[in-house]
Amino acid sequence: LAVKGVQALSPYQPGKPIEELARELGLNPAEIVKLASNENPLGPSDKAMAAARKALEEMCLYPDGNGFDLKQALSKRFGVGMNQITLGNGSNDVLEVIARCFADSDSEVVFSQYAFAVYPIVTQAIGAKGVSVPARDWGHDLDAMAAAVTDRTKLVFVANPNNPTGTVHEADAIEAFLDRIPERVLVVLDEAYCEYLTGDEYPDGTKLLARFPNLIVCRTFSKAWGLAALRVGYAISSPEIADILNRVRQPFNVDTVALAAATAVLEDEAYLNRSREVNEAGLRQLCEGFDRMGLPYIPSAGNFVAVEVGEQAAGVYQALLAHGVIVRPVAGYGMPCHLRVSVGLPEEIDRFLDALAEALVSAG
Ligand code: PMP
Repeated sequence: LAVKGVQALSPYQPGKPIEELARELGLNPAEIVKLASNENPLGPSDKAMAAARKALEEMCLYPDGNGFDLKQALSKRFGVGMNQITLGNGSNDVLEVIARCFADSDSEVVFSQYAFAVYPIVTQAIGAKGVSVPARDWGHDLDAMAAAVTDRTKLVFVANPNNPTGTVHEADAIEAFLDRIPERVLVVLDEAYCEYLTGDEYPDGTKLLARFPNLIVCRTFSKAWGLAALRVGYAISSPEIADILNRVRQPFNVDTVALAAATAVLEDEAYLNRSREVNEAGLRQLCEGFDRMGLPYIPSAGNFVAVEVGEQAAGVYQALLAHGVIVRPVAGYGMPCHLRVSVGLPEEIDRFLDALAEALVSAG
């Protein structure tokens, strides 16, 4: 029944739900450690929670379809016009709307090997041809990606930092790449994890928009801002691109509770700082654990690490599940020897590392 591109799709594989594993193991959900979906282990910001509770009182009314308050807050934060912003039901929604607006079955869409799984999905869904460019050292080979652009290329997706590898490019490299891409080709710079980057060497896509009119910067409230369940993401672009995206997106794609929580959390700089601190310490704890076990891993700039456990990765994943620990297999990304583990709280990481040590023995 489905059209050609859709027939070839494999579904996005989310992390196994906590409740499902708890049921299978006969455990209380609180005993499960889930480090599978790059969620924020801190729990929600108090300010976001208060705003969300209050917004629930309006549940019988449609949301503000233009997201005025949130756009105003984002516009202030990034020094861009409100007419440059497109809100989405998570940044996945924005990525999908971008593909629908700017590519079709005659187009090619360029992305990197091991890049975020949604790029090939949104590309195939519109019948466009995905061009997966071999990675270099697990990260995007930006030179090869620029060289892969043809007359048919309409879009290039770059995740910086990338999921699931955690690799990141510095500002110079991203700018040199953008310089090489013809203006008729749109570049989607997906900065879902950019809030974890500290240091001037890393790019802030919003600062590059004035120089590169073909740039679309995508961001999300799901990671460092801790609102994954509420599904809020956004694109910042030229007003012309935003106008097109806003014509095609669903009229009420971000709900009232999500809008209120996202607007409130932007005021909660202390929460963001805590997210960064917990992440930095957690990454260190994970990597020290891997070093102790002699396991190679890909140094990560995100809130997760891809660790190489070898050919028995699927068995290690299953053995971890049996210990009540959920991580993410990445064989679907072409990384059959790695598992991706998200940064959790210190005690969650300890439990994961202990379970991993046992799982390596039982699976190996
Ligand atoms: N981009 C990247 C690189 C991601 O890893 C994710 C989340 N896994 C997203 C976009 C989408 O996030 P959301 O839809 O929750 O905003």
